[in-house]
Order: sequence, then structure tokens, then C-alpha cells
Amino acid sequence: MQHLDWPFFDDRHRELAASLDAWCADHLRVAHAADVDTQCRALVAQLGAAGWLHHAVAGEGEAIDTRAICLIRETLARHDGLADFAFAMQGLGSGAISLQGTPEQRARYLPRVARGEALAAFALSEPEAGSDVAAMQCRAVAEGDDYVLDGEKTWISNGGIADFYVLFARTGEAPGARGISAFIVDAGLPGFEIAERIDVIAPHPLARLRFTGCRVPRRQMLGTPGEGFKVAMRTLDVFRTSVAAAALGFARRALQEGLAQAKARPMFGARLADLPLTQAKLADMACTVDSSALLVYRAAWLRDQGRTVTKEAAMAKLMATEGAQRVIDAAVQLFGGRGVRRGEVVESLYREIRALRIYEGASEVQQLIIGRELMR
Ligand SMILES: Cc1cc2nc3c(=O)[nH]c(=O)nc-3n(C[C@H](O)[C@H](O)[C@H](O)COP(=O)(O)OP(=O)(O)OC[C@H]3O[C@@H](n4cnc5c(N)ncnc54)[C@H](O)[C@@H]3O)c2cc1C
Repeated sequence: MQHLDWPFFDDRHRELAASLDAWCADHLRVAHAADVDTQCRALVAQLGAAGWLHHAVAGEGEAIDTRAICLIRETLARHDGLADFAFAMQGLGSGAISLQGTPEQRARYLPRVARGEALAAFALSEPEAGSDVAAMQCRAVAEGDDYVLDGEKTWISNGGIADFYVLFARTGEAPGARGISAFIVDAGLPGFEIAERIDVIAPHPLARLRFTGCRVPRRQMLGTPGEGFKVAMRTLDVFRTSVAAAALGFARRALQEGLAQAKARPMFGARLADLPLTQAKLADMACTVDSSALLVYRAAWLRDQGRTVTKEAAMAKLMATEGAQRVIDAAVQLFGGRGVRRGEVVESLYREIRALRIYEGASEVQQLIIGRELMR
């Protein structure tokens, strides 16, 4: 954890990372039982009871501490991908309420999220609108004191187990991105069903949601009508950097595992670690890990200074997720046959990392964002 000496951090960040690392070593186990929903609920309760989830939300009058969120995600990901997921979804799912909620909305949802008593989700993507978010079709029509929701959302993390969803729907104030609004939708409302549970290579709770004439009270709107796209992008500006931090945690664990294996494995009368090609591989892995860390904590620090980090967050996400994929692949290679055996740490990292290059903006979307920002 030498990077904690970097000037990006305050002492409270250094203490936070060190105490979470110790807590993880005592409380988290990498092997999980088959039922991922139960595991996730238990992890959220455990993280809430220990006080870690307070960092995922901003209390009254507080700003989101991006560096704290990134250090927590990096540390949790290094220990256990599902624990990182549980923390991340409490933050992403409630982020728009922290950033944009009224005092009533904040009081109703954020304390329960922070205590681990309510599970949060973020429902933006649709079957025909993933990278092209502004193509969304799910609509919300004003009727009396309610908005009536019709349409589908898919790939929704915590879908099926969340207590509420921050959902984005077309309200039609203007075409495209300017005609979308954000709502807090409680699970279990009439007309809201889980259409499908989705199984992915690194098991997480995931679902497709369907809304049919589902009435959501007007007071559940976040921000003003037509402001939803901005709310989504502001939330992603925080959590995109934290996806990069999680990728960094996975990459650090892969480097640690690869190095230990290279030192332990006898080969050609020496150790795998003594071979020059192995040292070159380890050097590449270490350079990638450190350059990702610099990009992640630059973006987090800048955001905590109140700066706009659209370009820096995109750079961090692009480089850290793509880099982690290469580092983890190299670690699998160092393990030989054991690297692809189910249950090995590097095998599970290999499955964990893949989706991070796709969600919260695929790598190509990050490249477009960086290119557009450079042209300004
Ligand atoms: C495990 C997982 C969890 C998720 N959790 C959530 C969640 O909680 N909430 C939520 O709202 N969504 C979630 N998503 C959805 C995720 O954000 C989308 O999958 C993502 O935005 C890509 O959309 P898509 O799958 O429709 O792919 P598409 O939009 O069809 O994109 C396919 C591919 O096209 C390429 N591409 C995209 N844009 C360009 C371009 N401009 N030029 C060239 N190529 C391009 C990329 O390689 C991309 O992977 C999750 C997805 C996964 C896999």
C-alpha cells in the first residue's frame, strides 16, 4: 500500500484504507456459497454494520468523498469481487439521491442505504439503449399526482434484490437526452415486475425489469423534469472513476498472486521468477498497476477539489480496466494449468474483470469522450 504516501490523499484516507484492509482480512472470505442473492444481502448488511457504507453516500451538507470511495473499492476488489460489487451498488444506486435529492428524499433513503438496511440499484440501460443512452424508450407520463411508467430496463445490477431503483425514463420535454427524467422507484409497486434474472460469468444479481402502467408518485422525481440525463452523467462522473479503482484492486491482487507463484514455482533448475521473460512480464504488470493508480487517484483528487473530471474519469476507466485485463491475463499465464482451474484466485479475477470494460460506458465510449474533450 505504498501508494498511500502519494500527495493525492489526506491522513484520513490513509487511515481508512489501512483499517479497511485489516477488516477485510478478518471478515471476508473469497469462496462464496451458490446463492449470490443471499451472499449480496449478507455483504451489504455486514458492510453497513461495520460502517463502511457511510462512505458510499453523502450525509446532509457533506460532499461525496471520491478518494474514499475509490480506496474502498480498490481494497474490497483486492480481497473479494462480490464485496466490491455490494459496496459499489449502494453508492451507484443512491448516488443521484446524494447529489440531487430533496431533504425528504435524502432522509428517506440515504440513512437506510448507509446502514445496509436498504439495497439500491441504478436503472439506466435498456435492450435497445446501452451505449446510446439517449435512445431510451421507457417512458413516464404525468397523470394527476403520479407519473405512469411503461417500458423495460436491462442489465440492472441488484435487479431482483434491490429495495429501490434510481430509474431514468423519457418524459418528453425535448427530443433525445434533454427529454429524460430521473425517479426513485420502490420495489414491489404494482406494475413493476422482474422480467428475467440474468446469469453472467462472474455471478452478481442482475435482472431485466418490466414496467406496465406502474404509478410512481411525482414526489419521487429526482431533480427537475428533463434533467435526468444530467443527473445520470453527474452520478457516473463519480462512479466511473470508482470502476477504475475496482479494476486497479483486481490488478493488484493478480500481480500479488503472480509474483508469489513465480517465486514458489521450481522450473529449469531455478524458479519461474528467475527467468528473464518472467521478470519482463512482472515488470509490465507492475508498470500497468502503477500507471492505473496514478490515473485513478488523479481523477478522484481533482473531483474532490470541485473540478470537472469528464476527461480524467474516462482516461482512468479506459486505462485501468483495459490494463487490469492484461495484468490478470499475465497472472493466469504465470500459473499455467492452475490458472484456468475453477476456484483459483486468478481464474475468478479473469472472470471478474471482463464486464468492467463494458459497463458504465464501454472502452470505446471512453475513447470517444476523451477525443471529444481534446477537441474542445
Ligand atoms: C455485469 C453488468 C452489469 C451492469 N449493470 C448495470 C446497471 O446496474 N445499470 C445499468 O443501467 N446498466 C448496467 N449494465 C449495462 C451496461 O452499462 C451496458 O451493457 C453498456 O452500456 C453497453 O451497452 P450494451 O450492452 O447495450 O452494448 P451496446 O451498446 O450494443 O454496445 C456493444 C459494443 O459496441 C461498442 N461500441 C459502443 N459505442 C461505440 C462507438 N461509439 N464506436 C465503436 N464501438 C462502440 C462497444 O465495444 C460495446 O461493448 C451492466 C452491464 C453488465 C454487463
